[in-house]
Amino acid sequence: MIDTNRKDNDFWTLTYDEWKPQQQPLREALCTLGNGYFATRGAAEEVKAGGLHYPGTYLAGGYNRLESEVSGRIIENEDLVNWPNWLCLDFRVDDGPWFHIDSANLIGFRQSLDVRRGVLERTVRLRLADNRQTTLVSRRIVHMGDPHLAAIAWTLTPENWSGQIEIRSGLDGAVSNQGVERYRDLNSQHVKVLKTGRTGEDGIYLAVQSNQSQIGMVQAARTQLFRDGEHAVLERETFIDEAAVQQQLVVECQREKPLRVEKTVALYTSRDFAISHPKLAACDAVARAGSFDELLRSHEQAWAHLWNRADIEMRDGDSRSQLVLRLHIFHLLQTASLNSIDFDTGVPARGWHGEAYRGHIFWDEVFIFPFLNLRIPELTRSLLMYRYRRLPEARRLAQESGYDGAMFPWQSGSSGREESQVLHLNPKSGHWVPDNTHRQRHINAAIAYNVWQYFQATGDIEFLSFYGSEMLLEIARFWASIAAYNAERDRYEVHNVAGPDEFHTRYPGIEGQGLNNNAYTNVMAAWAIRCARRAFGLLAQERRAELIEKLELNDDEFQRWETVSSKMFVPFHDDGIVSQFEGYERLEEFDWDGYRERHGDIQRLDRILEAEGDTPNRYKASKQADVVMLFYLFSAEELRGIFEHMGYGFDAELIPKNIDYYMARTSHGSTLSRIVHSWVLARSDRAESWQLFQQALKSDVTDIQGGTTPEGVHLGAMAGTVDVIQRCHTGIEIRDDVLWLNPCLPEALKEIRLRVRYHGHWVRLHVTGEKLTVCFEHGRSGPAKIGFGDEVYSFAEGDCREFDISRE
Ligand code: BGC
Repeated sequence: MIDTNRKDNDFWTLTYDEWKPQQQPLREALCTLGNGYFATRGAAEEVKAGGLHYPGTYLAGGYNRLESEVSGRIIENEDLVNWPNWLCLDFRVDDGPWFHIDSANLIGFRQSLDVRRGVLERTVRLRLADNRQTTLVSRRIVHMGDPHLAAIAWTLTPENWSGQIEIRSGLDGAVSNQGVERYRDLNSQHVKVLKTGRTGEDGIYLAVQSNQSQIGMVQAARTQLFRDGEHAVLERETFIDEAAVQQQLVVECQREKPLRVEKTVALYTSRDFAISHPKLAACDAVARAGSFDELLRSHEQAWAHLWNRADIEMRDGDSRSQLVLRLHIFHLLQTASLNSIDFDTGVPARGWHGEAYRGHIFWDEVFIFPFLNLRIPELTRSLLMYRYRRLPEARRLAQESGYDGAMFPWQSGSSGREESQVLHLNPKSGHWVPDNTHRQRHINAAIAYNVWQYFQATGDIEFLSFYGSEMLLEIARFWASIAAYNAERDRYEVHNVAGPDEFHTRYPGIEGQGLNNNAYTNVMAAWAIRCARRAFGLLAQERRAELIEKLELNDDEFQRWETVSSKMFVPFHDDGIVSQFEGYERLEEFDWDGYRERHGDIQRLDRILEAEGDTPNRYKASKQADVVMLFYLFSAEELRGIFEHMGYGFDAELIPKNIDYYMARTSHGSTLSRIVHSWVLARSDRAESWQLFQQALKSDVTDIQGGTTPEGVHLGAMAGTVDVIQRCHTGIEIRDDVLWLNPCLPEALKEIRLRVRYHGHWVRLHVTGEKLTVCFEHGRSGPAKIGFGDEVYSFAEGDCREFDISRE
């Protein structure tokens, strides 16, 4: 352990010592439990949706489409469905009122999320009528080992009284999507209840179906009561109504004798493998499930196995940083885990933790996959297959838009069609405004980048051969066809797009068109085309021939790709500043000080300006890193190569100059932005970089955007912070079959310990300000090459080496 003065729990447990109703939406999101198959928000068991409570349950990839009328237009959205609430559990004493956290007379409260074991615990001490003091300890798991199971254990202790306790345990299908206030004018009724009933001696079930995608889900629940380890139910009555089913159980309790309530839930859907029917599967699973303690043991074991692969230890003198870093890893693994493999889900920008962005899949994978590549690459492979299966739809989208190849959508859901919303509501002004963010074609470069990075980390030539290269080739084809030749410049240009910075999606005064020559997009397009050629060259002759035949490729096309990539246009202004897009230099400077003074928090400048009848499109003001993304994704050496191939010089000063320029013009309105800026400053301005990292680290636990985290965590930013520690500060870079290491710790960061998976091996790293220790643990393939400084070393199993990295 790296700090012996702190209790181990400080590094693993998120604790709230007080009941603060206003914080509940945020706590619910942060205390979500999931297993990569489904997730349930950390709402209290006794609450229904409403007010500050929102007990949402989401199935990975469980979408449904609905039409709504907005401002006289019919629009269609595909949403991540909020499925029935399985948490429902409450109690009352001697016919008194049912317990509810909002109305209870609380004398004690504590809630903790143990991320090591995946357990959410709540202890409430209450004073009921007639001064009856009662303690309720609730523990909850969503099983990581068996993705269909979840369980709740309550221990209810009458401290100074004896009497009758009634327990109510149910499954509630009367749910709709109400998790995001901005979407509340839209249709939200996604599920219909098909059937409710009893199962076995002590069970109930609820069958529902989504009304458009027709995904069937069955939840079954078993509720048991124990006193002194013995079954203790006096009466059990089942109430079945149209949308919900519940059981009421009555039991006599004695002073100081704890009553144990165990609710075990099974959840199956019509998309599951290896079942005959979801109802049979759910009812059988719940009948066969072991006790809560048994389930807890196997659940903890599954988490222990995951942490063995995923943990990163860091020491910066603040135990909170370590805890939050682990919380981020925890939420990543709850969103995509071993249970996601082969399940055809992508990795959603907001986790399966809420309804923001409708559970859609964006380019945030760029920030998420590097962590998975070096831990559970099999999982990245599976997530890339989500894209591969949607290649036909991406081809259709390209064709429909007049291009060749495959054009993946900015927002992707079930089928891979474009799911970006057409209109969005500005909560500041109440206006519905056109949403032009779908013009972010750069997602196609991100997918190519992800395929290539996965291959670099794993050497998985089979994936590259059968799936990856086909995506790369079709993406290259798309870029070559969207690029138009400008004879005057003798250069290729990409028009009508938007870059990552969502404050700029069009030129001021010009509706209906995007921007021309977004530098990030153009550079990435040129890189992606070359990457496709390179990957193609790595394939066996036979596979190359197959692909040539299947995709009808020929030398002329390859030649055109080469021309396009080497003559791609990149705009510059002000002597060495890469223009975010063509014409950027003509935009007005923004009054940062004035707006900060008037509005305080101006991260979401777009909303402020729109409410004033203005638009950020007019200003040199960015929501997030755009040009700077290039320095995040590529090393200076790689960038030099890319620029030189396009016929542009690459002055070493270009990087710091551009970072400074754009840093002064960014509001960080996306949580991804600080990650990128922290990364690119890690070597040149370690103090500033560390500060940005700290802000990024806190962005979800403190809800830095003031209200977005309750709607779902920001998974890209979470993964990004982990990757800053994992790759940026260790200087991990995989190039030409060598794992390069070049650590550089910020002053405040004293130590990092981690293991990474590289070409089937585990490599253990320990970095301090003075020393790098590399140990090559074990693996199946032969020795691997690890580079430090200018040297490449061959590491075989059991080898350990130390390198001096002391600062002068
Ligand atoms: C950011 C995008 C991101 C999306 C989903 C937006 O606010 O601007 O870059 O992909 O959120 O996280």
